[in-house]
Amino acid sequence: MTKSGLAISLSRLESFSDPKLMKEQYSTDSETAADLLWFAYMQGDIETKVIADLGAGTGILGIGCCLLGAKKCYLVENDPEAIISLKKNIEVMQIKNAEIVESDVASFAKKADAVVQNPPFGTKARHADREFLEKAFSIAKVVYSLHKSSTRKFVEAIAKDRGFSITNRIKYMMPLKATHSFHRKKIQRIEVELYRLKSA
Ligand code: SAH
Repeated sequence: MTKSGLAISLSRLESFSDPKLMKEQYSTDSETAADLLWFAYMQGDIETKVIADLGAGTGILGIGCCLLGAKKCYLVENDPEAIISLKKNIEVMQIKNAEIVESDVASFAKKADAVVQNPPFGTKARHADREFLEKAFSIAKVVYSLHKSSTRKFVEAIAKDRGFSITNRIKYMMPLKATHSFHRKKIQRIEVELYRLKSA
């Protein structure tokens, strides 16, 4: 597997058919997903590891981890419609070591070696991103999490509070498709940052 091969595979996955605004269902684009997963892979955090993808959506991050040799990946998602696409994607990619967990992130209690997540950004549902970070910190010692750049102080504060340090931060201009009627431009880009957080 190469990074561009990974991007091509991930670009074939089905995305949200009817994204829900209140749940901030924005899927990670395949280029960004391949880049961040490749980075995590190079850090030695994916291959042979148990991964949890919190708020898995249609599965692009968790499925990518499986393609990069994760031992197992939990895909935690509470939206039944997203889960329909998630199941299809797992089948199409012939992934055998993914486990879909249909539940709220808050009640997921399995341990993992690493969490990889693109949580709701917390702009519609306030503090949704806090819930995801808190959960991630409680189940794994290494956390990869995507956040809007404007929320940097918030991410830094909770990390510090929970004894995690930011080992890396990578900026992406993530394309958001005009899936919601209020989006005027066809493709709008938002500045996000991937954090690698490690338990001290
Ligand atoms: N990880 C996917 C989806 C990101 S969008 C990707 O990168 O493309 C965030 C996802 O979190 C959505 O699918 C949404 O339904 C899910 N979600 C939001 N709140 C949740 C909660 N409390 N428990 C489980 N899933 C949740």
